[in-house]
This record gives sequence, C-alpha cells and structure tokens, in this order.
Amino acid sequence: MEEQKKIKKIGVLTSGGDAPGMNAAIRAVVRTGRYFDLNVIGIRKGYNGLINGEIKEMYSRDVSNVMNLGGTILHTARCPEMMTTEGLDKAAAIYKILSLDALIVIGGDGSYRGMAELAKRGVNCVGIPATIDLDMNNTEYTIGFDTAVNTGMDALNKLRDTSSSHERCSVVEVMGRDAGYIAVWCGMVGGAEDVMFPEEKDTIDSKEVIQQILANRSTGKRHNLIVVAEGVGGTQKLAKDIQEITGIQTRATILGHLQRGGSPTATDRMHASMMGYYAVKALLEGRENIVIAYNKGQYEVLDLFEALDMKKSLDKEIYDVVKILSI
Ligand code: ADP
Repeated sequence: MEEQKKIKKIGVLTSGGDAPGMNAAIRAVVRTGRYFDLNVIGIRKGYNGLINGEIKEMYSRDVSNVMNLGGTILHTARCPEMMTTEGLDKAAAIYKILSLDALIVIGGDGSYRGMAELAKRGVNCVGIPATIDLDMNNTEYTIGFDTAVNTGMDALNKLRDTSSSHERCSVVEVMGRDAGYIAVWCGMVGGAEDVMFPEEKDTIDSKEVIQQILANRSTGKRHNLIVVAEGVGGTQKLAKDIQEITGIQTRATILGHLQRGGSPTATDRMHASMMGYYAVKALLEGRENIVIAYNKGQYEVLDLFEALDMKKSLDKEIYDVVKILSI
C-alpha cells in the first residue's frame, strides 16, 4: 500500500469576487495549520499571486484582528491566465517549486473550476465556498451570503422609512447576476411586495407587479417596496413605468457593491471559522482534492469533481411565501 503523504506546507488564497467572512476563513486556516505545526503560505491576489509568486509565510499573529474585517487581507482578483494551458501549467509548476502539499482556495464557482484544472495537473486542492450570491451547487451555505442579505435588509429598512413618510414606491436593486438568492431573501426579510429574480427572468411581467401595487394601495397600503435582482435589469425603467402608470411617486435605488462589503455577521464568521478548520483537518487526515460544504446542518468534506457535478436550485417556495405575506 502506498504510504500516505505527510502534509507539511500548505498555501491559501482568496479568489474571484470578495465576500465578507473570507478573513475569518483565512484566520482559521492559518491558525489551524500552525496549531498542527504546518507551514502556511499566504498567496496574494488569487491565482495571480500563485502564477507570479506573490507569497508570504503566515503566522498566527498575521491574522490578529481580521475576523471583524470585510474584504480579504490576501486581496483577490480575477486571473485570465488560468483560462490558458500555459497559465495553468505555470500555476502547477510554481506550486511544485514552492513544495506545497496542498492549496486551499477560498472562493466561488469559478475559483472551483480553476481548482479542478489545477488538480488535473497534480495540485492537491481544497475549496472553501465563499460568495455572497449563494450560487454554489454543492453547498447550502456560502461565506458572505448572510452579511450581504443583512446589508440588503438594512437598506430596505431605511428605504421603507422614507417611502412610508412620503407614501412612495421604492424599487430596490440588489446583487445577483445569475442567482436570485439574495433578492428572494431580501424580499422576505425586508417585507417586499414583490421580487424579480434571474431564474424567472423570461416570465417576469412588469404589468403584474404594477397591478399588485394598485391592488395593495386599494386595501390601504401607503407605500410599496419592490426588490429586483441585478441580473433582471431594467430597474430604472420599472420605477419610471410604475410612476407613469400608477401616478405613485417611485424611486429606484441600486445597492450595488455596498452588499459586497461590511463587517461579517456572526453566521458568516462561524461558518468561515469552522470551514477553515475542517479544510486543514481533512488534509491532515489524508484527503485530497476536496471541498468543504455545509448541508442539512452538517459540515461535509466532498470530492472536488463530484461536487462540481452536483445541482442545486433556488427554493421557489420562499418566493411564493413572500407573495402570500405581501397582501
Ligand atoms: P468566483 O470564484 O467568485 O465565481 P470567477 O468566476 O471570477 O469568481 O472565478 C475566479 C477565477 O477562477 C477566474 O478569474 C479564473 O482565474 C479562475 N477560473 C474560473 N473559471 C475557470 C476555468 N474554467 N478554468 C480555469 N480557471 C478558471
């Protein structure tokens, strides 16, 4: 039987879109690694830093006071070179030159696809799911989602105050280019009357939304709140149409990258800390090419390639309930 390779040196990077809680995950990886006497190498700016050798050894004190910070202390970037054979070969070669025994990647779906390519070139990859959009197929939780939804909820609360005072309609665009998780959650917890999200993009009818607004006004509602996901688009036009057709003063607000930042919530810090710990633990137990997931209330270690083949879809029932509760 082949003897299990002992893990001595690991690299960690954050990749793709940043998400609040990434720092808590970095902290957990560094400190768990150090606790078990591993050398931990921080790689800056995602896969770019691997290809360009932008690295630095990390110790416990390097991750002091970072748990509460949004963004990522290792910085992140998109790395087009990873889409080329030369780039991938170079990344794998640097991994070997650095004598790394594993590479921990904290990122979203795209970053995971990059890991799969590196794994085919002999890099032992471990994924920690981090994206505000929650759109990863193998896990019910992704780091950053809770903070993004809370930021959205906070904005909706404030807009509700002013639209209520002025008896206006507020159309709020939240993040989510391809996935409606943020929109539907913000719609629910912000008490919106309707939510427009990318999964239903083709069947959305703004006339129905306008009818709903008028129906609610006729039962005494004095202000309206509509949530639109970024990927649906046309937020300004919808606000204009509502105002023109109903005569109700309507304002569009685009939250944009506001939702990417901010101090992570307790939920994000908890998941990030546990996932960082499990990533290192799984490596020490001899697992290779894996991702950490959270499903049905449990942390899981899944095979990277199987994880990439998994499917998940938005629970439309949440949307149905938003509508029921909006009358
Ligand atoms: P996220 O990880 O947040 O989904 P991206 O989709 O931008 O963000 O992916 C982050 C990086 O992962 C990309 O800039 C690229 O370097 C790498 N990547 C994405 N898709 C692939 C792929 N198919 N092959 C190799 N690398 C990829």
